[in-house]
Amino acid sequence: MSTTQDLQTIDRTNVWHPFTQMAEWVQQDQLIIESGKDNWLIDTEGNRYLDGISSLWTNVHGHCVPEIDNAVQEQLGKIAHTTMLGLANVPATELAKRLVDILPQGLTRVFYSDSGSTAVEVALKIAFQFQQQAEKGDPNRIKFISMQNSYHGDTIGSVAVGGMDLFHATYKHMLFQGEKVLSPYCYRCPFGKEKATCDHECFQHVEDVLSEHGSTAAAFVIEPLVQGAAGQIMHPEGYLAHVRELCTRHNVLLIADEVAVGFGKTGTMFACEQENITPDIICLAKGISAGYLPLAATVASEEIYNGFLGKHEEFKTFFHGHTYTGNPLACAAAIANLDYFENNNVMEKLQPKIAHLQNRLNAMQELEHVGEIRIRGIMTGIELVKDKGSKASFEAAAKIGHRVCMEARKYGVIIRNLGDVIILMPPLSISLSEIDLLCDATAKAISTVT
Ligand code: PLP
Repeated sequence: MSTTQDLQTIDRTNVWHPFTQMAEWVQQDQLIIESGKDNWLIDTEGNRYLDGISSLWTNVHGHCVPEIDNAVQEQLGKIAHTTMLGLANVPATELAKRLVDILPQGLTRVFYSDSGSTAVEVALKIAFQFQQQAEKGDPNRIKFISMQNSYHGDTIGSVAVGGMDLFHATYKHMLFQGEKVLSPYCYRCPFGKEKATCDHECFQHVEDVLSEHGSTAAAFVIEPLVQGAAGQIMHPEGYLAHVRELCTRHNVLLIADEVAVGFGKTGTMFACEQENITPDIICLAKGISAGYLPLAATVASEEIYNGFLGKHEEFKTFFHGHTYTGNPLACAAAIANLDYFENNNVMEKLQPKIAHLQNRLNAMQELEHVGEIRIRGIMTGIELVKDKGSKASFEAAAKIGHRVCMEARKYGVIIRNLGDVIILMPPLSISLSEIDLLCDATAKAISTVT
C-alpha cells in the first residue's frame, strides 16, 4: 500500500489534472481522497471533509449509498459491459423508460453517451442532421445560437457553443461559428440596468437575435435557469419560457443542457419543469448515475427521431456512438439512483433544506466582500468583489476565490471557486447541521479576505 507521500510524488510526476495550472499544483501538498461515506470525503490520512460540491455536482445522494452500491454489485455479477451496436441490454433498456416517465412530456427517445460534453455533442449533431434531412427540417438551418457565459463541455462542438472566453477563446480557429445571445447576468447587466430600472431588455435582445438569425439556425442551446460554470448566473423568471416561445415561433429547435441543473439541484427534478416547458432535446449527465459511473443521455422528441427513419440506403441513420454507450453498470446505477429518489422522497425532503440554506446565506450578505449571493434550489454562487459599491473585482493574480476555498478546507469543508465566485452545491442528502457547517466554514473563510 502506497503512503500519502508516495502517492503525492506519483501525482506530481505522472498525472495531469483537468482545468489545473500544473506548475502551481506541483508546488502544493495534494489532498488525496481514499474513501467516502454519506456526505463526507476521507483522505489517505483519515481526515474527513464535508463534500460541499457533491464531487463536481454529481453525487446527489452522497457517497457509498448502500442501495446503489448493491445495484452495481448485482449488475457486476451479471455483466459489466456489452455493446449497444447491434444489441440491447437490460439496464439500458429499462432506464430509457424510467427517464421518459419523469422527463417533461414529449421527450421519448434516449440516446446514451458517457459525459455531459458528449451529451451536448450528440444533441448538436442530431439537431444539425435533422435539419438537413427531415421532412420537417430545413437544410439552410446550419447555425447554432447559444449564450454568452454558457458552458456546455470541452469537446469541440460543445466548446463552439460555449460562451466563456477563459475556456473557449484559445480554440476559436478550430470552431464552427454561431450566434451568441448576451447573458442575462442581472448583477452585471450587459444592458447597464439595475433591477429597479430594468425593463427586461434581455427579453427583447434574445427576440432580436432570433428575428435576425432564426431562419438560418438549426437550434438554440441553453442551460435552463442557471449558467453554472460561469458562476451560477441565475436567469430572470420567465426567460426560459420566453426562449421556448421564440424558438417555436422561428422553427428553431431548443436544446436544454440540464447536465448541471438536472436531478434535483434547482429544487425540482428538472429545471425545465419550473417554467413548464418541453425542449426538443434535453442533455443529461452528472446526477444521472448519482456520481457512480460515467453516463449521459440525450433525449429527443418523437418528431426529431422520426426525421432519422428511412431505408438503410437513404443514409438517414444517426452515425454516432461511443464504445461505452449504454454501459450496463452505469445504467444499473442510474436506475438505483431513480429508485432512491422515489423511495426516499428526496425532492420533498429537500425543500426545508433549501429554505435553511437560503436563511444561512442571507446572513452572509453582510460580509465585506460579498457582492451578490445567488441561489436556486441548492445551487449557490457567492460572488466576491473588492468593492461592493462599485462592484469592482479583485485582480486575477490575487486568486481570492481559490484562497477562500483553501481556507475552508482548514474547517473540514470542500468547496470550489469559479474565478471569484464561491460555489456551494452540496448533495441533496445534506442535513441541516451539515448546512450549518458548510455555511459557517464558508463565512469564516470569506472573512479572511482583506
Ligand atoms: N454542460 C454543463 C451545463 C455543464 O455544467 C458541464 C460540466 O460541468 C458539461 C456540460 C460538461 O459535462 P462533462 O464534464 O461531464 O463533460
